[in-house]
Formats: sequence, structure tokens, C-alpha cells
Amino acid sequence: MADRIDPDIAFGRTLGFIDNPLDRLSGERDDPARVAGFRSQPMAVSLVLAGDAVVFASTGSPWLPLAEAESLDTVEHSTFLGLGDGRAHFATALVATASERLAVRDGFRVLNLRAVAAEGLVSNDDLGVLAQAKAVTHWHRQHGFCSKCGTRTVVAGAGWRRECPACETHHFPRTDPVVIMLATDGERCLLGRQASFPPGMVSCLAGFLEPGESVEDAVRRELGEEAGITTGYVTYLGSQPWPFPASIMLGCHAEATSTDIRIDAHELEDARWFSRAETQALLRGDHPDGLTCPPSMAIAHHLMRAWAFAGEP
Ligand SMILES: [Zn+2]
Repeated sequence: MADRIDPDIAFGRTLGFIDNPLDRLSGERDDPARVAGFRSQPMAVSLVLAGDAVVFASTGSPWLPLAEAESLDTVEHSTFLGLGDGRAHFATALVATASERLAVRDGFRVLNLRAVAAEGLVSNDDLGVLAQAKAVTHWHRQHGFCSKCGTRTVVAGAGWRRECPACETHHFPRTDPVVIMLATDGERCLLGRQASFPPGMVSCLAGFLEPGESVEDAVRRELGEEAGITTGYVTYLGSQPWPFPASIMLGCHAEATSTDIRIDAHELEDARWFSRAETQALLRGDHPDGLTCPPSMAIAHHLMRAWAFAGEP
């Protein structure tokens, strides 16, 4: 069984998108007077998204006064994200083409969220709220029509629901679960690489959870399909919102019960067993062959660290 780990040490400090200080007040989204009150706060602020891009003000902050955010370009919809220190926080979604117009306007920067996270341009708290805003905004853009009857849907619930005026079906934002796992065999762990990875980078294996499937079975199935190994005991360690476009990563360890690797060439370019010392070198960034692993903002890094340095301070 995997060692128990202190979540503050393993997941709380550097993992991206997990800190979100807002009180979402989900029970008040259907109270029009309350939502109108939040909107009319003079100090209400908003993130601005244009398509999948995040718009930054000249201050370097992604937060603008709500009224200013909604005057920048054509607004598609607005979502109430929650209250922070008594202040209402919103996400304003502009039409996607606004990103090109704002990119050339003085005082604005238009960035994709991966770059914002990778370059550490915002606090961990803001990164978590950006994940919330980007995921729900993406959902709106992809679900403009009723999946039951095809009629254009309308925004309700302060941005957390779409309703069909024809058949009255309610549609809610979706999150797609992905299992990501480190298979271990005593003093070795399994790491692989996809052709799309940066050169030399190896990581944990991952795949989408399917309908009607437990997390444990998804972990075992993906390891079987991608690497040809069988696994037994699965331990859940933690999760990470991953708004590309709307996933939640469910991080696990899995104990291997067979070790001969047979990769699925459609999924992986390579996979092999790495010793604990080698994995520690990957995490430190001094692997003798120059191999690398994902940075500490990604859950794969922490799944590797929790195993490679288990029991060490
Ligand atoms: Zn409908």
C-alpha cells in the first residue's frame, strides 16, 4: 500500500489550480435580488475571458471593475464566481474575437491560461479562480443549444445553468474526470511519454474515466491498455482541477501485479520502469540522461514525489 502522505506537503503548496478562496454561495445563485445586489456592488470585480484567453489589465492583474469588464467588448455571458472578503467576483465572457481586438489595445495583455500558470503570473488563489472561470466559460461556449431538442438555451442561475425555453430541460456545467496514476513495483515506478510531450519528458500515465466505471477500474484499465501491465491495489491521493478544457485529475498510486511492458503505440511513444533513485533525480532536475518530468504545478509531479520521497522529510 502507498504510504500515507501529508496533503499539505504533497499537494498544498505548489500544485496549480487547487487554491480557490471564494465562497461560491451556490445556494444563492437562483435568488435574483441577491445576484443583482452582487452585480451592483461598486467594488464588484471580474475576470475577463475572450474565447479561452484571459485578458489582463495594465496593472498586471486579471481583475477589472465589473462595469469596466462588461464595457470592453461584446459580452456573451456573465457568471457569478463567488464572494471574497465581501466583494463579489464575476467572470465576464466576451466574444472570442475580442481577444484579437484587446491584444492590440494599449494597457491590455491577452494570454492563455497555460502560459499564465507556467510563468507564475498570478497568485495561487487567482490561479484557482481562473480555473473556475475558464472551465465554466468554456462550457457555456460549447453548450449554446439544448442537447435534447436543439433549441438555443438561455443562461440561468447566475451563470451556473442553461435552460431550454422549448422543452424546459436544465443543463448544468460538466466536468470530465481523468485518472492519472503512478504504477509501482516495489522499488520501481512506471513512467511513459506521449509523442506530444516536450523532448525528454516522462510522466505518469493518464486517461479519461468512462461512464459506469469506478476510479480504481479506470486506473487498472488505462495501465493495461497503455502499458500492458496488470495492477491490483489502487490508492487515491488527491485531485486537481485541470481546465483544459474542463477536467478534474484524480491522482492515484497503483500496485503492479505484472511488470512486462507492452505499450500502445497510439497512446505512448515509450514507457519503462524507473528506480526510486532515478525518479528522485527526475524530480530534482538532475537526471543523468537529461530526462525531465512535469513541474510541481502538475499533479503528476506530486504523485511521483509522494512515492519517490515517501518517508523522507
Ligand atoms: Zn430543449
